[in-house]
Amino acid sequence: MSLKNKATLFLVATPIGNLNEMTTRAVDVLKNVQVIACEDTRNTLKLLTHFDIHTRMISYHNFNEEESSEGIIKLMEEGKDVALVSDAGYPLLSDPGYHLVNRVIEEDYNIVTVSGPNAALNALVASGLKTNHYLFYGFLNAKSAKARKELEELRYFPYTLIFYEAPHRIEKTLKLCLEVLGERRACLARELTKLHEEYHRGNLSELCELSDLKGEMVLLIEGYEKEEEEIDQEELFKEIGELIEEGHKTKEAVGQIAKEHGLSKNALYNDYLKHNNKE
Ligand code: SAM
Repeated sequence: MSLKNKATLFLVATPIGNLNEMTTRAVDVLKNVQVIACEDTRNTLKLLTHFDIHTRMISYHNFNEEESSEGIIKLMEEGKDVALVSDAGYPLLSDPGYHLVNRVIEEDYNIVTVSGPNAALNALVASGLKTNHYLFYGFLNAKSAKARKELEELRYFPYTLIFYEAPHRIEKTLKLCLEVLGERRACLARELTKLHEEYHRGNLSELCELSDLKGEMVLLIEGYEKEEEEIDQEELFKEIGELIEEGHKTKEAVGQIAKEHGLSKNALYNDYLKHNNKE
């Protein structure tokens, strides 16, 4: 790793439930930095105690991001390496840290990521929904009218959608998703990496029937699928026939109609010949 001879901010992912998922690298980094900036010192203390880490902690949360970023930059000016952790998973992903990372980039200090668990990705790979392209949305707005607007903007998005949601809002959110996005395949992944990890896979309307959902959860919904245009073969043959009547050669006419409808020229040509032989 080529780092500048300056202080480093380590972005350290921590377990989302199962402490065995703490990496040895994460433990080493948290032991060796001078300061750990965390969301909730009481929460992080439990993690540090479990791994026998005694590094000094300072708090860094959403409502004091700007102020505490400046405090952290001062520590880095003194040459101190800092690790940023959140309560679970990656910092910055639906968690604080964005402001700090940008300040550290501005001040040209090093930034290093220490990999680890993330609820969205765990849920995605087990969901059975498409993984080649996806959108991590995080939390929808807590106000229904705003959440509805957000969903309306996502309605025609063609890739798997990933949302975080709180248990007390999930039933309402599922109903809203069904209303705005329409029936789609979906998956609700609960309590990942924990004792009661479970996946509810089905259509949105089936997930809407679930009740008493507790714990931490990720909601994944399949992206918008364009309905294949129903093409009437008789209509295609008629269009080809009209072009031939106008003086085009059969192959030319088939080629033009295939292009217009986004079809395979060879397949259409064969179908057209078969159709004409039948007549
Ligand atoms: N930074 C975290 C990450 O990288 O996954 C996410 C933090 S966000 C404040 C917390 C939300 O993540 C929860 O409300 C839930 O939607 C999701 N989450 C976190 N841990 C989870 C788990 N073990 N199982 C399911 N969802 C989880």
